[in-house]
Amino acid sequence: MGLADLHLHTIYSYDGTASLSAVLTRAKKLGLDVIAITDHDEIRGAVKALELAPNYGVEVIPGIEITTADGDLLALFITEKVDAGLSLTETVLQVRELGGVCIAPHPMAGGMGMKSLSGQTILKALRNPLVADTLIGIETYNGCAIDRISNHYANILASRLNIAKTGSSDAHIVDTIGFGVTEFEGHTAADLVSALRNKTTKARRQKEWSAFRVLSSWGMRYMGSAFVRITGWARA
Ligand SMILES: [Zn+2]
Repeated sequence: MGLADLHLHTIYSYDGTASLSAVLTRAKKLGLDVIAITDHDEIRGAVKALELAPNYGVEVIPGIEITTADGDLLALFITEKVDAGLSLTETVLQVRELGGVCIAPHPMAGGMGMKSLSGQTILKALRNPLVADTLIGIETYNGCAIDRISNHYANILASRLNIAKTGSSDAHIVDTIGFGVTEFEGHTAADLVSALRNKTTKARRQKEWSAFRVLSSWGMRYMGSAFVRITGWARA
């Protein structure tokens, strides 16, 4: 199973405080396989992070959080800026032209300057088959959502629309990276896209995944020595 944090801000966002190297270092330390850099209406940090990623051993998806006229939209796998202020459908179609895919972040959430897409807007946009082929996920766990109830509603919406569910931190500071993650079959960004299209991703809170990661790395390190101890004891 791979883990991805698909919604991260850096100092390239007007409201982010984390440097690219701090984000990449933290992601590696947490054991994340893939991260998406998604600054507000800004692509420069994501493109730079893509170049730096091999030095840190974390796969980076370049992305952007676009302020559409209907609310925020995550675009992944693009290296060019998409203009803010267009409708959801127009924006998704532009991202499609650039070869990217979209995720609806924190739908229906309010507060903290979040401008979120409504369920109705997403539903309407998905009637366009090209939009439906490009907007392939709903963020059902956002680590920053102040009104936790919006995560609950997002989950219901994604189930009703039969669309992939993602979890992300929406971190604006280094310490909150990994507060939400997307679990997927495989380990690479390509595996992640397949999982999104197959609707097999799972949204996880940090509490749910960190114990698993810690235990599995602990297991790798200590099971061997425990085995030696046990077999040594058996021989004695
Ligand atoms: Zn965000």
